[in-house]
Amino acid sequence: MSKVYIDFDPKENFPKGDDLFYECRSCGIEIPSAPQENLCCKCFNIFYDVDEDKFTVGDIANIALFRKNTT
Ligand SMILES: [Zn+2]
Repeated sequence: MSKVYIDFDPKENFPKGDDLFYECRSCGIEIPSAPQENLCCKCFNIFYDVDEDKFTVGDIANIALFRKNTT
């Protein structure tokens, strides 16, 4: 398994996909890009609200988007 980091603009939109994940660079937690429930990372930098289908990010310098390559 390898991670391929993808450029994205957290001020614009949050891409979604089964193989796409967000990573908090502050606490190192990985969050699926299309969660089925409310989620947040350990340091609360990244929060996902399932009702609003919306990510909220505290420090956008500390979020990364990557694709998991299973091959
Ligand atoms: Zn965090």
